[in-house]
Amino acid sequence: MSQTNQLSYSSFLGDKIYIELDETEIELSKVTSKLLYKTFKTKKQTPPSAQNKMKIKYPQLVVDWKKIYSLPFTVTVETKIRECQYKILNDIVYTNDKLFRFKMIESPLCSFCQKEDESLEHLLFHCKITKDFWLAFSS
Ligand SMILES: [Zn+2]
Repeated sequence: MSQTNQLSYSSFLGDKIYIELDETEIELSKVTSKLLYKTFKTKKQTPPSAQNKMKIKYPQLVVDWKKIYSLPFTVTVETKIRECQYKILNDIVYTNDKLFRFKMIESPLCSFCQKEDESLEHLLFHCKITKDFWLAFSS
């Protein structure tokens, strides 16, 4: 019984078997774990959806995304701050415009200025009250 298994295993090794990696055929005996790791690592990486949204909304914007995504890990060791940065980068901050879409609140208007819909972009870049806050905070 074990002899049969060993024979079939040997004949299996005797044949040249090719596998396809990145649209090229490579002989199985020449495939290394390092090569497989590199191939699968590049296939697994897909840009986050918030990054794609930014590229669509601001096509002229040139951004070093790798640097931006590494910032939460280089700027602080504080877990809550890293979490906040992660949420901002991935656009998963529940602002009034989202809560209004989920029908959880009555109005999408900004909690601070009450003039525009409260989106993450509004809070970070356009809202006069939060702008004044950050200016006072940084000076
Ligand atoms: Zn506002």
